[in-house]
Amino acid sequence: MTHASFFAGRELIDEEFKTLPDEHIATRPAIHFDGGQPRCNRCNNTTNFASHPCARCGNICTYCRNCIEMGKISSCTTLYTWIGPPPEHHENAGTLHWTGTLSAGQKTASSNVERAICHSSEHLVWAVAGAGKTEVLFQGIASALSVGKRVCIAAPRSDVVRELAPRLTTVFPDTPPAVLYGGSPDRNTYSPLVIATIHQLYRYYHAFDVLIVDEVDAYPYTFDRSLQFAVQKARKPESALIYLTATPHAEWQSEVKKGKREATLIPARYHRHPLPVPKTEWCGNWKKTNVPKNVLLWVKAKVEEGQRLLIFYPHIDTMEKALPLFKEIDLRIESVHAADPLRKEKVAAMRRQEIPVLLSTTILERGVTFPGIDVAMIGAEDAVFTESALVQIAGRAGRSADYPTGEILFFHYGKTDAMMKAIRQINEMNRLGIERGLIDR
Ligand SMILES: [Zn+2]
Ligand SMILES: [Zn+2]
Repeated sequence: MTHASFFAGRELIDEEFKTLPDEHIATRPAIHFDGGQPRCNRCNNTTNFASHPCARCGNICTYCRNCIEMGKISSCTTLYTWIGPPPEHHENAGTLHWTGTLSAGQKTASSNVERAICHSSEHLVWAVAGAGKTEVLFQGIASALSVGKRVCIAAPRSDVVRELAPRLTTVFPDTPPAVLYGGSPDRNTYSPLVIATIHQLYRYYHAFDVLIVDEVDAYPYTFDRSLQFAVQKARKPESALIYLTATPHAEWQSEVKKGKREATLIPARYHRHPLPVPKTEWCGNWKKTNVPKNVLLWVKAKVEEGQRLLIFYPHIDTMEKALPLFKEIDLRIESVHAADPLRKEKVAAMRRQEIPVLLSTTILERGVTFPGIDVAMIGAEDAVFTESALVQIAGRAGRSADYPTGEILFFHYGKTDAMMKAIRQINEMNRLGIERGLIDR
């Protein structure tokens, strides 16, 4: 590997490389002091620091606690960037190997994305769950790669990154993407096409001509300013920024409606059926009873019909208390949460249709597709079920063309604003989909 391909676009610390090239390297201190006030140049943190007797320089050094998981940087740390010529790209870099066809809604989004990439501008793709937002990127990425631009797709969560990687590898076999997340094997691989968690962007500096942020509404991106800084730092000063989401937050929704934000809306799914609309059902104090009677009856009836279900709980403890009661209906019923060591196996078993009902916390709210399922939420009024989470969860139902309907039930102990807004948003999308001829009736 050449120095250019190792360093290009990255901003690294001593611990991250073996040898430093004699030329084409610029440096800056990792921690900048302004009137004695520290600011981290890697993550822009100004408040979260500590100091320690430093093994490297022997002084008392200030270090950044905010980005410490990327390797500790102190007041004596230097950041290195490559300023030499960029690596050359494969001559077929932009050749697209894809034979699918785009829906009418996807076509509009695809050409708007390509135009934004060509003009280095910002664009938001607001596509309902199941619209097929990844395909909308292919043409724009192809044209960027063919003129020697470097492209990054960043997502808040590593499972989204791992799911995107094989799809992009198939579509761009001449430039297989470098896939970056904590502990990924590609860490030092160069590619003009990068798929990364947003955290990995801390290691980049003015690297990308095109930066695509997927699931822009997802935690932790929306709450973490230093991740938003990482996105800005990783893109070149003149570059395109593309956002993808199924559920933009309220401020962006209103900017789109007022025409203040460039956006393409895809209100309908690829299979041209309307989005299933959630129903609400009061279930009393579900925390007290663990599983309310009407919930048990509903689940029992569904299981007897052979209908598979995904049931969301707001918290692990209430879910774990409920599990034995569900197991009385069918012993194969399982539960899953973020720290569950069998998480991947259980999700795979659900995909193979070996589990009739899977209970889950919000970790399965997005990024998963199980064909032919119905969906319920227990305690839909809980604060973790934001408007965006409710729309995402409802988006799990009816995704496949073979089973485009699906039932969605919000079991609640008092209706919330978020529930009503989520239902309104789904109805509004269906209305627009019909109005624009994207839904068959
Ligand atoms: Zn930092
Ligand atoms: Zn030091």
